[in-house]
Amino acid sequence: MMRRDEIFHWLLEEDENCLKDLWQRADAIRRENVGDEVHLRGLIEISNHCIRQCGYCGLRSGNKDLDRYRMSEEEIMSCVDEAETYGYGTVVLQSGEDYGIETEWLSRIIRQVKKETRLAVTLSLGERPDEDLEAWRKAGADRYLLRFETSDEGLYHSIHPSLPGGVSNRLAMLKTLKKLGYETGSGVMIGIPGQTYASLSHDIDLFRKLNLDMIGVGPYLPHPHTPLGQGDRRRMIPEEEQVPNTEQMTYKVIALTRIVCPDANIPSTTALATINRERGRELGLMRGANVVMPNLTPLQYRAKYEIYPSKACISEIPSEYHSCLHDRIGSIGKKVGTGQGDRIHRFG
Ligand code: SAM
Ligand code: SF4
Repeated sequence: MMRRDEIFHWLLEEDENCLKDLWQRADAIRRENVGDEVHLRGLIEISNHCIRQCGYCGLRSGNKDLDRYRMSEEEIMSCVDEAETYGYGTVVLQSGEDYGIETEWLSRIIRQVKKETRLAVTLSLGERPDEDLEAWRKAGADRYLLRFETSDEGLYHSIHPSLPGGVSNRLAMLKTLKKLGYETGSGVMIGIPGQTYASLSHDIDLFRKLNLDMIGVGPYLPHPHTPLGQGDRRRMIPEEEQVPNTEQMTYKVIALTRIVCPDANIPSTTALATINRERGRELGLMRGANVVMPNLTPLQYRAKYEIYPSKACISEIPSEYHSCLHDRIGSIGKKVGTGQGDRIHRFG
């Protein structure tokens, strides 16, 4: 087991040879625990409406420059069909926190997907009430993704304001999700202004304590139409304590996450592919990750799901991307996974 002070040390490590050891250790642990299969999850960004005001995200309700959309049931089902055609094991339905996504409407879609396909259904719809989570679980949803973003409470509340009438508590919601029987995923952004090395090492340690099934980490990327992107700093910290939002730091966090959570499913994220379009996804897979989430959102909506600018997948055409994906995965000595790609529990 890696202690928190060791995680902290690794986050500060700059020596290329030492880092090579870290990548190799993470890759060996990945192979031993989850094998060489890369699981594909088809991502469908079903709505960009959001009632929240996260200081970092382009979908925040305060961003009036964004043209909003919500996909219809037919459009969603047509993306689901595509996922089946490409042989993916899972669809991920993601959106802003959008109450236009009504509980029963989505339950109906989940039931249909479960009835007509063999796909696992993952939801990533923000902080919905327990009744919604329960209804969707009953309808057949298998998994839920909700990043806690940072375990530094002060930083979290300063960049993720609560809504009137309730304090945002994503850690409590993760517990509820587990209790309801969802496979549960979480994660953080790397390099949020005000995020220290100490707090990031705490985040990674917390992944282990939460016994997460899936862990997504990616660099924070500034969006010019957000307070953080415009330089608003609620949290001032000494420069030397600030975690950089770099590619290298992202690999370190992926590798350390694999070492502390050997059997978790860890995606090589779009945000990583955005900072290195050529090799980011592959290098993530070579340094601890074992999941890729190809984007199936119809092209006319893709650019509107602008969490941050210049997202890597904005013009990826699913059929073209799919045809080169097997080659890209094969070129790094791995193979595309079959089945739903559930977590293989080895550590309780
Ligand atoms: N609304 C849901 C939620 O917040 O959980 C799901 C969609 S939200 C866009 C998915 C994730 O995008 C967030 O958990 C956050 O980590 C990430 N994200 C948002 N803004 C970002 C940014 N500027 N840079 C990198 N990641 C960002
Ligand atoms: Fe909305 Fe999620 Fe973006 Fe926050 S991170 S503004 S909840 S879409």
